[in-house]
Amino acid sequence: MLAPLEGHNMQELKEARDRTRDRLISELEKPHIKALLENIEAHASRNRPLRKQEGELAKIRLLKHITKTVPFYRNWPQSVQIEPLQLEKFPILERSTLASNLGVLISRDQITGEILASDLYLSSTSGSTGHPVTHIKSSESNGFAELVFWQRLQAAFAIPKTNEWLDLGLRVFGQPLVQGRVLPSATIAWNMRTYRRERPEFMQEYESILRAAEPDVIWGTPSRVHELAKVVDELGILVRPNVVLTSYEPLTDSLRELLLSQFKCPVASVYGTSELGLCAWQCSKGAFHFDEDLFVLEVVDEQGEVVNDGDCGRIVITSLHSTCVPLVRYDTGDLGAARRDICECGREDPRLVRIEGRRLAMVITREGVEFSPYRLIDYIGSMGVHDFQIQQTYPGSLRIALGKQERPLTSDRKSQFIALASSFLGESTHVEFSHEHPFVLANSGKKNPFVRITDGAEKF
Ligand SMILES: [Zn+2]
Repeated sequence: MLAPLEGHNMQELKEARDRTRDRLISELEKPHIKALLENIEAHASRNRPLRKQEGELAKIRLLKHITKTVPFYRNWPQSVQIEPLQLEKFPILERSTLASNLGVLISRDQITGEILASDLYLSSTSGSTGHPVTHIKSSESNGFAELVFWQRLQAAFAIPKTNEWLDLGLRVFGQPLVQGRVLPSATIAWNMRTYRRERPEFMQEYESILRAAEPDVIWGTPSRVHELAKVVDELGILVRPNVVLTSYEPLTDSLRELLLSQFKCPVASVYGTSELGLCAWQCSKGAFHFDEDLFVLEVVDEQGEVVNDGDCGRIVITSLHSTCVPLVRYDTGDLGAARRDICECGREDPRLVRIEGRRLAMVITREGVEFSPYRLIDYIGSMGVHDFQIQQTYPGSLRIALGKQERPLTSDRKSQFIALASSFLGESTHVEFSHEHPFVLANSGKKNPFVRITDGAEKF
């Protein structure tokens, strides 16, 4: 699947892309893949009444399954287990509970204690949160549901079956430049590094990719897609994808407008968490619709009671196909508001009309200007550092707290980071690198990649 590249000239890139695409297409022609694809398409194209009906059945199935096979729920008070089982009676599952009690949250055979799923895979949180939660998924249940989700997303934006993505998501160190992904379609991903104006070779790489690629999708964090829009404009290259999809951080209305005018296509934010996977994308009216055969969306108050439509609360999601480690009433850590009436876009499924985000702190300059910290987080990740936290101690001053197992950074690397931070924030920034300072955890136990610290207390 991988096509590592040394040189980055346009012709080589095109050839690498074509080779990868040919391989993916022949992969999709294999009989067992074809059969799986047909099954995915059949599920994905179900109409709304069928989805609702299937969702109800899946919910009952999941609740019965967990009360019988998952120790955490088997030991839960009898009142929860009285049939008919009601989702609202089940406890809210906090991220910290998942992190510290994985053993009792796994579905097991009652007698033998064996894990009740085959073909498992581990899913770890992305570098964006840096919090080492490992979650176990089963490809027969989670995997299938994820593919149905992708199939629907592709259909919604008319993404062809053989497609190319400019991927400006959070970088995993060492990723190849051209990468093939199969299912539910043949996808070529151009893994683009964080753009850096001060490095001519980055400019050259961007230009080569932009001239070689024929992207159907632009995918990434809003700040990186914004950077791409500026580069495309400066280079005068026409980039006309079917859709721009952003994730990981909120997409502001003004940036959505800007991207729309630059790329002349729909621009949508995609909502998800690392444990749940992707859950919903934005419709033309800005709401995030949840497929009822895949997820149950709830917004609850501090006590776990469902709030009225339109009221703000904690966003809690049940993944109906998470049978191995069930995510039932999983607290995403985000705040928002939901509605269940018909959306102006015509869709009738439950939707989030507002996401207030997990209140990720912003970097603040001496002049009081706030910036999203993602550029800095992304940059540290690109240096191969995974266990870290950026702590803002004062305006204009940052501390990079490094995990014990992280090697010290070379002075070159440190200077590069300081130069980037200073140019990004528009003022000279003091940066301290430390193995001595502990990470500051949120009340939930979560380690945010960036925190603002005043007198030792985490401040959002
Ligand atoms: Zn809508």
